[in-house]
Order: sequence, then structure tokens, then C-alpha cells
Amino acid sequence: MNAAKFIWMNGKYVPWDEAQIHVLSHTLHYGNGVIEGTKAYKTDKGYAIFRLNEHTKRLKESAKMTLIDIPFTVEEMNEAQIELVRKNEFTGDNVYIRPFAFLGYGVMGLYHKDAPVETVMAAWEWGAYLGEEGLRRGIRLKIASMTRPANTSNMGKAKASANYLNSQMAKFEAIESGYDEALLLDDQGYVAEASGACFFMVRDGQLISPPNDNSLESITQKTVIEMAGKMGLEVVRRRITREEIYVADEAFLTGTAAEITPVREVDARLIGKGERGPITEKIQSGYFDIVFGRDPAYEHYLTYI
Ligand code: PMP
Repeated sequence: MNAAKFIWMNGKYVPWDEAQIHVLSHTLHYGNGVIEGTKAYKTDKGYAIFRLNEHTKRLKESAKMTLIDIPFTVEEMNEAQIELVRKNEFTGDNVYIRPFAFLGYGVMGLYHKDAPVETVMAAWEWGAYLGEEGLRRGIRLKIASMTRPANTSNMGKAKASANYLNSQMAKFEAIESGYDEALLLDDQGYVAEASGACFFMVRDGQLISPPNDNSLESITQKTVIEMAGKMGLEVVRRRITREEIYVADEAFLTGTAAEITPVREVDARLIGKGERGPITEKIQSGYFDIVFGRDPAYEHYLTYI
């Protein structure tokens, strides 16, 4: 990874290499932590963080869901991220911000009420999550053999570290099988989400994305739905089964890191012509216009540094 200069830890900026914790930190053992993934892009007017407040608010909400009491307000954490991007003096186009909270050292055993809460914001330069070529040509997606855990035993709307064990297993399987990314179904066989992104497909000119019944409430997905509406595209939120994807005209993934990544193949079936489709391309270029500050209609989503 690309190291940066400073990391914000519990209210203080510390040099990158000094942001360390004890090996007996609670979260390392039992997995209760929450994370965010936010991006800053280099616009003509300097760096701008995309939908900052919503990301920070989701961190607070994920923490509430998993019984972690973050001792900072959304406003304080917003301010910390703005200052963090400034202090690190980045130069590239893409900066990824990772705010997170976890349980530190001092308590063992599962009952975590007295475990100290550690709050951290890190940022570093990180380009296209699924590769520049993936953005242009599309990626190959594999439906994972594991499903998302059922809502009766998991909280998929929490961006909880523990949820990423399931994602990690699916991603590993996909890559080891020669694919780029994994798509997870829910326990009923309907599309939930990709290992770290949401799913859209196009059929007969209609843009279809599953409801967030068993997935993160994705901020990029919400942005795409808003954009599509303004472009005059019909957007439908409904359940999707795997065989519908195989005959879709186009498909793409959405996420802060994945941005708008076209899908050219799913489980050995080419999607459409096996390349980035025209609607995907329109959404993708519209999205980059927004995050790079080239679309005045969406200026209100940008926090300039
Ligand atoms: N689902 C999962 C499991 C994710 O990790 C992400 C990335 N945060 C998403 C969906 C997309 O969410 P967002 O658009 O808010 O980044």
C-alpha cells in the first residue's frame, strides 16, 4: 500500500509508522469493529471528499448497531478527515479515507462493555479498486459458493469488520478461480451484493438493482439511482435471481472504491457483448464528472479541502 504521513488516532495526528496497537486488542480476537470507506478526488479546485457526512454518519450508525460507543461526534470526525487530507499533502487523483472504530486493549472475554473504544482515520493514495482496465473493459464476476448470512443471524447493514470474513472468503474463491470479483446471493438465492460493492443490471433499457434487504445501504448505489433518474432512465428495485443476470444486456458494480465497474462476464456467460455497455458507460462517465467536480448539479455532495 501507499504509506502517507499522518494517521488520526483518538483525536491526535500521529506519524504513519507510530499508529500502533497492542496485540491483545479485543477486536483482533473477536472481530467487533466498524469501518468506513470514503474517497477524496483531486478536482480543479483542490481535493474534494465525496458525500463525507453520509459516510461518517454511517460509521456512527454501524457502531450503534454493533454496540460500540464512538466518543466523537459526526462533525468532529468530518473535521478530522478534512484536516487529515490537508495534512498528508497528497498529490495523486485518488485518495481513499478509512475511518474506523474498534475495541482496544484491557478486557478479554466476549462481554465487551468495558473494552476501550479506539477511533482512527487513515488516508492514503489508492487508485481503481478493480483496476483501470476493469473500469474500461469490465470485470469477470463469479457467484460465490457461500451466501450472505441470513438476516436472522447477521446485520448486513452494519459496515462491520466481522461481515468481511464472508466477503473475504468469496473474493478469494473468485480470484483463485480466475475471476476478478465475487457476487453473493442471500440465503434465499436472490442477489445480495458483491464482496465490496452493490450490483446493477440492465435489461430491455431498465436499470435494475436489488433492494438493500441483505446488503449495505450503499452511498454509490444511491448516487447512481439519483443520476439515472435525472438521465431519464427507468430504475427498478427488485429481487434478482442468477439466471436473469446471465441474460442481462449490461451489468455493473457500484461502490466507493469500485466506483462504477462494468461487468463483462458472469460464471462463464458473456454479458451483452462482453464489454462495457452504453448505459454503463454513461453512468460511469457521469459519476466521474460528479466526483471530480465537473458537474455543478452535484456540487453539494463535495466537501472541498
Ligand atoms: N457492499 C459492501 C459489502 C461494501 O463493502 C461496499 C463498499 N463500502 C458497498 C456495498 C458499497 O457501498 P458504498 O457505495 O457506500 O461504498
